[in-house]
Amino acid sequence: MDYKDLANVIFPDVKDISYYEEKYPRRNLEEGAIVTRFAPSPTGFVHIGGLYQSVIAKKMANQTGGIFFLRIEDTDQKREVENGVSGIIEALKEFGMSPDEGMIDEVNEKGNYGPYKQSLRKEIYQAYAKYLIEKGCAYPCFCKSEELDEMRQKQEAAKERTGYYGVWSKCRHIPVNEQIEKIKNGEKYILRFKSQGNPEKKIKHHDVIKGNVDFPENDQDIVIIKSDGLPTYHFAHAVDDHLMGTTHVIRGDEWLSSVPLHLQLFQTLGFKAPKYAHIAPIMKEDNGAKRKLSKRKDPEAAVSYYAEVGIPELAVDEYLLNIANSNFEQWRKQNPDADMEEFELQLNKMSVSGALFDMVKLLDISKRVISKYTATEVYDKATSWASKYDENLKELLEKDKEYTLQVLGIERGNQKPRKDIAKWADLKENIIYLYDEEFFANPVSYEFQKINDKAEIAKIIETYITKHFNVEDDKETWFNKMKDLAEEFGYARETKEFKQNPENYKGHVGDISTVIRICLTGRANTPDMYEIMKVLGKESVIKRLRYAIK
Ligand code: GLU
Repeated sequence: MDYKDLANVIFPDVKDISYYEEKYPRRNLEEGAIVTRFAPSPTGFVHIGGLYQSVIAKKMANQTGGIFFLRIEDTDQKREVENGVSGIIEALKEFGMSPDEGMIDEVNEKGNYGPYKQSLRKEIYQAYAKYLIEKGCAYPCFCKSEELDEMRQKQEAAKERTGYYGVWSKCRHIPVNEQIEKIKNGEKYILRFKSQGNPEKKIKHHDVIKGNVDFPENDQDIVIIKSDGLPTYHFAHAVDDHLMGTTHVIRGDEWLSSVPLHLQLFQTLGFKAPKYAHIAPIMKEDNGAKRKLSKRKDPEAAVSYYAEVGIPELAVDEYLLNIANSNFEQWRKQNPDADMEEFELQLNKMSVSGALFDMVKLLDISKRVISKYTATEVYDKATSWASKYDENLKELLEKDKEYTLQVLGIERGNQKPRKDIAKWADLKENIIYLYDEEFFANPVSYEFQKINDKAEIAKIIETYITKHFNVEDDKETWFNKMKDLAEEFGYARETKEFKQNPENYKGHVGDISTVIRICLTGRANTPDMYEIMKVLGKESVIKRLRYAIK
């Protein structure tokens, strides 16, 4: 009885690995093309860290003429939830990160290297497990979970490393004929890798992000096939990334310490190892300490959060690139209008430790992204957001579309577009006062500033209405009239004049226009008042100004 007999007893019907090696030929891509993937478990929650990985992986593939694929890692069937796969696909799609290959919905996929869902690859893993058994590099383990618990307690008591290795790997030493007999007798077992590593020796690893790292060799006989016949992450990783032609494994750095094991698996299976790029997690500052963004504590950890508050996907993508490469910010300054695709991402410039999540920065990027949209784009995106999250806003926007487009067009499409909207959830507050029905329906609190004497305000307003205001005026005329008005009331025409001789004036033109602005809108800060008057129209302007002084 030898290893071959053992392999045949365990897997009588699986195909030879040569079948799969032929079925999935090496990819025919340009030199330097990166093949990489996003490999989530369908747990129903898409973490911003997963999107971050996808942004990086997709960018690297695109930049090099490579492939970005999506593989669903559902070998832990306890953690699975219904529609978990479509949730991931939808999220990637929403953020423009759809893969070139992989699952496209709950059951369908595209690409020649599938199935892209691990639970459908059982026979493939078994073929490679059989190959390892035949080579004497894997063996059945009959230990019960109580025995393993007991072993761990002993190891802990003796202050030894825990795990299944060396003298502790009891089943490794069972003679083959005994192993076969136990299996034939129906004893339950799982399969373990027979590690040849020696922890006294070191391996040198070059990580694309982390740089050079040394590790002791792995000597753990880890489980490769579980009792349900499905592989563990480690084994599936080696088999899948080999067959799918992954050149770069871009993944979370919680896997960095598994590299010695993974390299050993690739070597024992006779595969060329991929390059590894281990990404540091996105961190959050919490009471002065840094911790990982947490699914439980931080709403912004879920990608669904951004849709809910209405931060455009593009802003989130850009922000993530910003975290990935700190030189992105500089590039963006130099190329304000360029497509983010034009930025060249470099894995070796990624930070080794986790970057802090900075909401203020994200919202700044979002303001810039939104400022570049046309009025129609704002209209469409905001309406689509509002139809899910804010019925009132939807009504407001749709009631008079033409008018709304004018409102949204204020200070847009010019050299310095307005940057006052960071997310769709802010939009209502930002524009509501420009709708007469809304404006007059609620009490307005006029908080006057420098000029706050009621009688004087009333005089200024009346003079403005009767003598100066003409909605047809061009901007320069309009502004000159504002200056005339200032002068008439003893205010300097220019701020500069006032600053030079403050004793000669009651104030300057800015104080006058502030009074008009507040009477017109109920606010001290608004976008350009000239444009606002144009949009409101003659009747509304006069009605608002008179209403204020009443
Ligand atoms: N399913 C693993 C995870 O979600 C994938 C890690 C990898 O990318 O290899 O952590």
